[in-house]
Amino acid sequence: MRILISGAAGFIGSHLCDRFLAEGHEVVALDNLITGSYANLDTAGGHPRFRFYEHDITQPFDMDGPFDAVCHLASLASPKFYYAYPIATLESGSTGTRNMLEITRRDNARFLLTSTSECYGDPEVHPQVETYWGNVNPVGPRSCYDESKRYAEAMTMTYHRVYGLKSTIARIFNTYGPRMALDDGRVVPAFIDQALRGEPLTVYGDGSQTRSFCYVRDLVDGLVRLLMSEERYPVNLGNPAEMTILEFAHHVRDAVNPGLPIQFQPLPQDDPKRRRPDIGKARRILGWEPLVGLDEGMRDTVEYFRSRVVVAT
Ligand code: UDP
Repeated sequence: MRILISGAAGFIGSHLCDRFLAEGHEVVALDNLITGSYANLDTAGGHPRFRFYEHDITQPFDMDGPFDAVCHLASLASPKFYYAYPIATLESGSTGTRNMLEITRRDNARFLLTSTSECYGDPEVHPQVETYWGNVNPVGPRSCYDESKRYAEAMTMTYHRVYGLKSTIARIFNTYGPRMALDDGRVVPAFIDQALRGEPLTVYGDGSQTRSFCYVRDLVDGLVRLLMSEERYPVNLGNPAEMTILEFAHHVRDAVNPGLPIQFQPLPQDDPKRRRPDIGKARRILGWEPLVGLDEGMRDTVEYFRSRVVVAT
C-alpha cells in the first residue's frame, strides 16, 4: 500500500512508519515538527520507500497521491504542549482532520483517526466502554484537546455517512515507550527523567488518580489491525492494567533509583480521576490485546532515556 501519515515524526507516528515500512509498504510522512522530531525517523529516514515532508496539515496541501490509506496522527498530545499551543491543538483536530479526510475521499482510501481516551473526560463509567459518551468540561483548559478530538470523531463519522468513507477511529489510552519526548511533561518521561537525574518524583495531587499504560509496540499493532478492519465506530486501544499514579511512581523509583523522595504537587484542573480501557471490542473484532507487561516495556523505555538524559555532575 501507499500510505500517508500525518504526525509521522511524533512518538506513535514514527513507530507506525517503521511498522509499515517493515511490512513492505510505501510511506509518505508529514509533520510540522512543532512537537515531533526528525530524530524519531532515524530508522525510517533513509529508507527508499519513505518520503518526508515538513508540512502543517492545517494549511492547504495536495500531496502526491494516490494513497491507499491515510493515517491521521498529527496532534499535540501531552497536556503540557496542548496548554502551550491550545489554538494549534484545536486546529489540527478540526481543519487538519478535514484536510486529511479530503485527501482520503479524493483517493477512495482507508482512513485511520487516532482519537483519545480524553473523549471520556473525567469518566463516570469505569472501565470506559466505547458506548459511553463521556464527561468532558467543554470550557476547561483541557477542552482544546478533548473537544478537538471529539470534533474529529464527529467529522470522521460524518464523512463516512455522507461519502461512504472507509474510516476507522482508535481511542488511544496512555501509551509509553522509546521516542517519547523527554520534556513533554507526561508522567512516564517525567518520572524517568527525574529518577535518572536523582531528583524527587513529582506526583500531582495525592497520586490516587489512576491510569493504564500500554507499550507502544502493542498500540501500533492495534492501529494496523484497526485500519484494515471494517469497523466504523470508535475502538478503545490500551492496556487494561490499571494503577494509581503513586504506585507508578514507586514502580519507576524501584526500577531506576530506589530511595528517591516523592514530592506532592497540586493536581491540574479537570485531571481525570480514573482511566482504564474496556478492550472487549478490540479483542472481539480485531483479535487484539496487549502482550507487553509494564516491567518489560519500562525496561526498554528507561534504556532509551538513559542515553538521552544529561545528568549533572
Ligand atoms: N502526573 C504526575 N506528575 C507528573 C506528570 C503527570 O503526577 O510529573 C499525573 C497527571 O496529573 C495525571 C497522570 O499523571 O493524573 C497522567 O498524566 P499525563 O500527563 O501523562 O497524561 P494524561 O493521562 O493526564 O493525559
